[in-house]
Amino acid sequence: MSSKLQTPIDYLKGVGPNRADLLRSELGIHTYQDLINVFPNRYLDRTKYYKINQLQRNSAEVQIVGKITGFKEIAQKRGKRLVATFQDDTGRMELVWFRGQKWIKESFKPNVPYVIFGKVNWFNGVFSMPHPEFELLKVHEKKISTTMQAVYPSTEKLSNKGITNKVMNTIMQNLFLETNGRFSETLSNNILTELKLLSKSDALFNVHFPKNNELLARAQYRLKFEELFYIQLQLILKNLIHKSKIKGVPFTQVGTLFNSFYKDHLPFELTGAQKRVLKEIRNDLGSNAQMNRLLQGDVGSGKTIVAFMSMLMALDNGFQACLMAPTEILSVQHYQGLSELANKLNISIKLLTGSSNTSQRKDIHKSLENGDLQILIGTHALLEDKVKFKNLGLAIIDEQHRFGVAQRSKLWKKGPASTLPNETEVNIIPPHILVMTATPIPRTLAMSVYGDLDISVIDELPPGRQAIKTVHRYDSNRLKVLRFMRDEIEKGRQIYMVYPLIQESEHMDYKDLMDGYESVVREFPQPKYQISIVHGKMKPADKEFEMQRFVKGETQIMVATTVIEVGVNVPNASVMIIESAERFGLSQLHQLRGRVGRGAEQSYCILMTSHKMSQDSKTRIETMTKTSDGFEIAEVDLQLRGPGDIMGTQQSGVLNLKIANILLDKDILQNARFYAKRLLSNDPSLVQPEHKVILDAYREISKYKNIWNYIS
Ligand code: ADP
Ligand code: MG
Repeated sequence: MSSKLQTPIDYLKGVGPNRADLLRSELGIHTYQDLINVFPNRYLDRTKYYKINQLQRNSAEVQIVGKITGFKEIAQKRGKRLVATFQDDTGRMELVWFRGQKWIKESFKPNVPYVIFGKVNWFNGVFSMPHPEFELLKVHEKKISTTMQAVYPSTEKLSNKGITNKVMNTIMQNLFLETNGRFSETLSNNILTELKLLSKSDALFNVHFPKNNELLARAQYRLKFEELFYIQLQLILKNLIHKSKIKGVPFTQVGTLFNSFYKDHLPFELTGAQKRVLKEIRNDLGSNAQMNRLLQGDVGSGKTIVAFMSMLMALDNGFQACLMAPTEILSVQHYQGLSELANKLNISIKLLTGSSNTSQRKDIHKSLENGDLQILIGTHALLEDKVKFKNLGLAIIDEQHRFGVAQRSKLWKKGPASTLPNETEVNIIPPHILVMTATPIPRTLAMSVYGDLDISVIDELPPGRQAIKTVHRYDSNRLKVLRFMRDEIEKGRQIYMVYPLIQESEHMDYKDLMDGYESVVREFPQPKYQISIVHGKMKPADKEFEMQRFVKGETQIMVATTVIEVGVNVPNASVMIIESAERFGLSQLHQLRGRVGRGAEQSYCILMTSHKMSQDSKTRIETMTKTSDGFEIAEVDLQLRGPGDIMGTQQSGVLNLKIANILLDKDILQNARFYAKRLLSNDPSLVQPEHKVILDAYREISKYKNIWNYIS
């Protein structure tokens, strides 16, 4: 890296201490290097000149050559505005300033041709341009000629303090003049030739001062590729280092529990995808490295059985296992389901949640520590310091997007102490970690966010599932929906009715929920009908009671908020009605729909909305009625929301990309990952001479960025 690029920005011609302060605080530009890496948001066509009589009322930015013929000052509510008459051979217009008027008046030479540039307004019967950029035509003609002018990111403060886009362009030019536009290469020769990439210097020049469209496109490609390449390199390296450095508890054998379960107690034939994923997990557990695996599988794809069989592998090797779920209801359900399987194998299994009482807790703590307890299921309660395992070999986290990173990392520390000789301090061997999620994230994003995790995907549903029929109904058609509900209950089915609950409008939402509940009770009177209600304000015990009534089939309708969103399994429930569906996010809708379609019966999802819907809401509802593929839905979700809200993106840095766009540059990302992988498989330590440039650039980048410090 040229040392010049480390020069503080204060020293660049045209900057000076005041502007330097602003550039630092507003755009994070400290050095020449930072400045050169500020990339334009867009480009303006500066080849075209307009005549005043060609202006349209809705013209965007235009460039005009003309002369100022006079100034006038007009008093207004606060202060005054300066108005100049500007004319060319076709007509006249006004230029307007609300600030810096004295300076403007002094610096404009009358009756000399200027190039002005800016947005035009149609105001009081004349065209006017507020705060135009301007330059003497003579000076303008001598500049680095570029057909497109870069528009840099800016802030209100910057433009108020006079760092206009023109100033940014000028200081960027000065930087290129001072450095002769020569920048050290950061990609290897073979990548450059193979992909026919522009050199670093050419790319930087053309991204800031494009000579033409083609060169601009190539410049952008090269810089995006480079950015994504180094992110992938970092992620893949981290994964490799993790595997070589972090010892795992080796599970050497597939033992009796696993085998006898597989032979004698498997409740159904595993799907091909479940078998494949189990193999992947088995490979990890058998290696000496700690497993750190994400298991993605759509709702209902059968992740639980995979989790259970993985736990058996731990038990077969003399280790304990735990499964943590985000809600009490879900933990209870896991506990009930898995106890049934565990009992067949004489495995000890317990449940620990916030509602476990003191004596239960004492019992659990003791049997965990002396090793009598083999499997522990529970909520966050598992993370408490008092919960100590004798030898935890595998920790599974269900619906991991509900947990924070900190919570997850606590599980690491619950592994067994290393018993290796020569260890000076007590070393904790982290348990193997399997995180499961039913919120699929699109592959491109997974590559960036979880590039350092191993990913398994269950992409196949168990056989015999009928597709859920999803329809959209307006509130005005409620009568028909009620009739449909009666018919389904007549057939012995159960129904969920879900109401939104958003924190900001919590009060109103509870009212809607209670109103809804009351009207359902009116429509479906006791004793013929029984109705459960579950929401977050209820005591856990009451929630549990209501939930259990529904699970046991004692109630036909469950009115609830999204507390039932994750995991709950009631196969006889075949209708999901989502109220105010326009207010739910796509992944939530998809999760909710996943609560039905779990039995043999035809299931339905009815999305109720008012007639008033935003464009995004319409897209969400349409997507839901069109597809049930979680990955496809995730793609649409990503398009609608951007990557910011998707789990993991905060830590991964994909939001801080300088030039690449995670949504639009999928192909480049794929390419970058391919080349990063290939490079590291040929030369994992980057010792070959032709890779020195990559090693250097990598070191430079890692020096500035914290290597993302997250685990899952
Ligand atoms: P999720 O991936 O959403 O956690 P579950 O593990 O709860 O899904 O499985 C959903 C339902 O499918 C459960 O009732 C489970 O018993 C059943 N199931 C899982 N795997 C299979 C399979 N291979 N064949 C038939 N049913 C299965
Ligand atoms: Mg599940």
